[in-house]
Amino acid sequence: MFEISPAVRDAILDHARQGAPEEVCGVVLGRHDGTEGGDRYVPCANLAADRTTSFEIDASFMAQARASGALRAIVHSHPHGLDGPSKTDMEQAAEDDVPWGIAVLDPVHRPKLFFWGDMLPVAPYEQRVFRHGIADCYALVRDWYRQERGLVLPLTPRDPDWWTKGQRVIEDNLHRFDFDAFGDSEPLQPGDVLLFQVGAPTINHTGIYVGNGLVLHHLTNRLSRKDVLGPWKQKYHARTMRLRPGALQSAVQSIAEGDGR
Ligand SMILES: [Zn+2]
Repeated sequence: MFEISPAVRDAILDHARQGAPEEVCGVVLGRHDGTEGGDRYVPCANLAADRTTSFEIDASFMAQARASGALRAIVHSHPHGLDGPSKTDMEQAAEDDVPWGIAVLDPVHRPKLFFWGDMLPVAPYEQRVFRHGIADCYALVRDWYRQERGLVLPLTPRDPDWWTKGQRVIEDNLHRFDFDAFGDSEPLQPGDVLLFQVGAPTINHTGIYVGNGLVLHHLTNRLSRKDVLGPWKQKYHARTMRLRPGALQSAVQSIAEGDGR
């Protein structure tokens, strides 16, 4: 959870409304000594060629904000309702060391503002509200491994309907981090990653086996939850992946060396 004052939140949403149908951008600054409070929103020009679908912050503005030591977040808007980071947003935010925020406008719902980034605390596993890319099935598996095992799986920038575009979000990452597939005859262990095909010709859903016959998972547009695995496995299960014993240490080391993304 990223805390900002109501005044800063209002300033960001007002900027987003005024700028629609173009994307707007800016930064949240805090105190220069990094202590809590004193937040303010500083809007800046969007330099992108096509401002209705993208944003670009002036490099010298950004350099100044970073050099000030007061940069708390980088913000832009989605005036057309995409309620989650785009693939490009995920690619750029992955390189950053401050949270990113997105103000979402759509004609039906109230405007929203959310922040994400690995520097923020992991949200509780259950009852998460779905949000593509940051509160979806793979994000839950990734958060679980980060919190329970200290293993940071890649962020994997992805489109909202990635499995229809040939993006292999789940399997490739797991193979890269020494997860192996194993047969259905072996009993499951907590932390095993289950891969599902839910109404799709390819793997498009994942969950974590958490023991006691339960799978922790996050379906699109539902709250994250634990379910009895049996029926799920029977209907949708494609494969089970387990971290190779002894693999964790080397994976964690490679992350420390900067290979984690
Ligand atoms: Zn965006």
